[in-house]
Amino acid sequence: MTVEKDVRAWLERHWDPDLSLTEWRRLLVDAGWACPTWPVEWYGRGLPPSAEQVVTEEIRRAGAVGPPLGAGMGLAAPTILAHGSDDLKRRLLHRTATGEDTWCQLFSEPSNGSDLAGLTTRADIDGDEWVVNGQKVWSTSAHHADYGMLLARTDWDLPKHKGITYFALPMHQPGVEVRPLRQMNGHASFSEVFLTDARVPATNVVGHRGDGWRGALTTLAHERRFGAVRGPQLDRNGSHGRAVQEAAAEAEEYFKTYQWYPQRAGRVDLLVEAARATGKTGDPVARQRIARVLSLQRAHQWTALRAEAARALGRPPGAEGSLGKLGLSDVARAAAEVHALLAGAEGLLTGPDSLLGGLVAEVLVSVPAQSIAGGTDQIQRNIIGERVLGLPREPPVDTDIPFREVRRIV
Ligand SMILES: Cc1cc2nc3c(=O)[nH]c(=O)nc-3n(C[C@H](O)[C@H](O)[C@H](O)COP(=O)(O)OP(=O)(O)OC[C@H]3O[C@@H](n4cnc5c(N)ncnc54)[C@H](O)[C@@H]3O)c2cc1C
Repeated sequence: MTVEKDVRAWLERHWDPDLSLTEWRRLLVDAGWACPTWPVEWYGRGLPPSAEQVVTEEIRRAGAVGPPLGAGMGLAAPTILAHGSDDLKRRLLHRTATGEDTWCQLFSEPSNGSDLAGLTTRADIDGDEWVVNGQKVWSTSAHHADYGMLLARTDWDLPKHKGITYFALPMHQPGVEVRPLRQMNGHASFSEVFLTDARVPATNVVGHRGDGWRGALTTLAHERRFGAVRGPQLDRNGSHGRAVQEAAAEAEEYFKTYQWYPQRAGRVDLLVEAARATGKTGDPVARQRIARVLSLQRAHQWTALRAEAARALGRPPGAEGSLGKLGLSDVARAAAEVHALLAGAEGLLTGPDSLLGGLVAEVLVSVPAQSIAGGTDQIQRNIIGERVLGLPREPPVDTDIPFREVRRIV
């Protein structure tokens, strides 16, 4: 039987829209169809990456609901699968795949974004728990996450990459204070997270003590390759029932965080509409610039398709993630420039009465985030230079000495 027939037959027997969303997803996860590429012993079917699209399509055709796809499925689950203990996999993967537990990424700190390995949030062992103190920032969706993918320093006498441990931090506890940040585009999708004697069980170490950098690289590779922002899968065409309604509510809540992400990507799709709205469809310069952005976007889409094909062949995430991420930034920046050219001073006006309902203004202030989130453009260029082009590595100034001796701003 092919995967397609297999999953279709299973859906015909089991899809029941009157179940609650959690009841339905538990069935889906237990049958291995929520995460078909995961190993058989860990809620999957051990199928090749190409099966994922087939299964997704069949779930959609049946009008059923798929797994939740936020940072939990996109980043935490693959990291736990790659590095976590069997105990962690048992406790965390199932609930992540059903959407009962959601995640945020607690990597960046006020002084350590690009230089992530310089992080200074500390974790000290206390019996069978770690006690965490420090501050994280730019933590997307932290305000409603159940767990944080936390990187903390556990050994200050080792070089900076060697003294870091990766934890699955329970977010709902007194030692974790989440303060949402308001962005210049008016949205508040990420937070500062203050950790004051926060507790994390020793059994929640992902991988081994001091080996957190390997886990971090896994998370970051998945972030660059897939992005963390794919939403819950749902096709409401002809679908109804409790599970569908609950999935719709889940999607609505989820997308509140990401509603400005299309604007951050430059809204290439709105360029022609903006030209019409500003009466510039006959302007040769505007036409040429729009055509250039559309071509750039098309070329980038081909790169993305090549990355997708590599993934379908089961290749691990690699440097093509950095190329793709840089491509997105280039397209977004180019689109914003053309939006500004078309709109002129009007592009500065916000609110529903302004150009394209305020979307152009939102594009102009949101696009810079594209070049920062998930590793800045300059960092992607460093990765491409070193890992793709084989150029000499950045001179190591602080990687071979105990972290305690590294000079830093305090
Ligand atoms: C929309 C958005 C969502 C985010 N979500 C999360 C999240 O969920 N979790 C999380 O942990 N973080 C998150 N971040 C944070 C993000 O990962 C960091 O902002 C990013 O890594 C850059 O770090 P920084 O802000 O400290 O900038 P810095 O590292 O201080 O960089 C400042 C400038 O210096 C340049 N630079 C730094 N080092 C080098 C170098 N070696 N070579 C050349 N140039 C260099 C940078 O490119 C940049 O232009 C998010 C950020 C954004 C914008």
